[in-house]
Amino acid sequence: MPKMRAAQIAQAGGPFELVEREIPQPPAGWVRIKVQACGICHSDSLVKEGHWPGLQYPRIPGHEVVGTVDAVGVGVAPWKPGQRVGVGWHGGHCGHCDPCRNGDFFGCQVALQITGISFDGGYAEYMVAPAIALAMVPGDLSPVEAAPLMCAGITTYNALRNSLARPGDLVAVLGLGGLGHLGVQYAVKMGFRTVGIARGQDKETFARKLGAQHYIDSQAQDPAAELQKLGGAKVILATVTNGGAMSAVQEGLGINGTLVVIGATESMQISPLVLIGGRRSVKGWYSGTAIDSQDTLKFSVLTGVRSMNEVYPLERVTEAYDRMMSGKSRFRVVLSMGQ
Ligand SMILES: [Zn+2]
Ligand SMILES: [Zn+2]
Repeated sequence: MPKMRAAQIAQAGGPFELVEREIPQPPAGWVRIKVQACGICHSDSLVKEGHWPGLQYPRIPGHEVVGTVDAVGVGVAPWKPGQRVGVGWHGGHCGHCDPCRNGDFFGCQVALQITGISFDGGYAEYMVAPAIALAMVPGDLSPVEAAPLMCAGITTYNALRNSLARPGDLVAVLGLGGLGHLGVQYAVKMGFRTVGIARGQDKETFARKLGAQHYIDSQAQDPAAELQKLGGAKVILATVTNGGAMSAVQEGLGINGTLVVIGATESMQISPLVLIGGRRSVKGWYSGTAIDSQDTLKFSVLTGVRSMNEVYPLERVTEAYDRMMSGKSRFRVVLSMGQ
């Protein structure tokens, strides 16, 4: 049997192991992908550290996958070998339960599948995925360019396009890291009056380079007061993983404004008076399904939005993962399979 290289986690809390595995065969309804690039996302720590209930080891992580269709299982339409595809966090759903019938596939109660968690992901030369999880990747994007858009990109793009903000509205992006640097670009390209919020004056030049019309240094200024001076935000996209920083911006929301939370943090504080007095709200946003990924990629090609990436070969997965976890990377870390 032909073999492939892969990086697996053998047990919760264990290190990455570079192993040789048999190249998997796609079952009915699944597709095999020859992986070209896979982004490393903070959520991969759920696999590394065992913070996902019921996760079975060994497991190959990775849900920012880009490659080409290599083989298709029985009953797969319309995917064919050679097509360029991507797979993100949402790996599949049943299509028949009440949430699925309502279009809320992320809430599937029967067969929700998460790439790199429910089945092996993209830290490997090949992987298999349900056909329903595939997004078409445009030829204009290289594998390394497209990979981070499969999670960081779709999450920020989809949260913004499903928000109540309309062109011309004031939209703030809290945090200018892996998620935030994409969020600012999408907000600008969607026609919002865009505010970047981060710590330190040194990030202002970067925020403006991304297209932000305004910048707020949350160390030197009160971000809520500054947003009110600009008229109050229709939407604040909170990309940081710091509950205190999220709590500090809520009073920057305008009337009917929404704090959209996509940074996974344990807790934050919200004042009922702030919500009631301005009819404001707080909501979370889940990344999206395959067609949302495809829309993200198309919009990124159309408008020139790109992730800034640090690229590592698969063999240096431990170093690449540590770099991502350190928070010092500029700005997403991507594994390239060199094939
Ligand atoms: Zn992710
Ligand atoms: Zn379902």
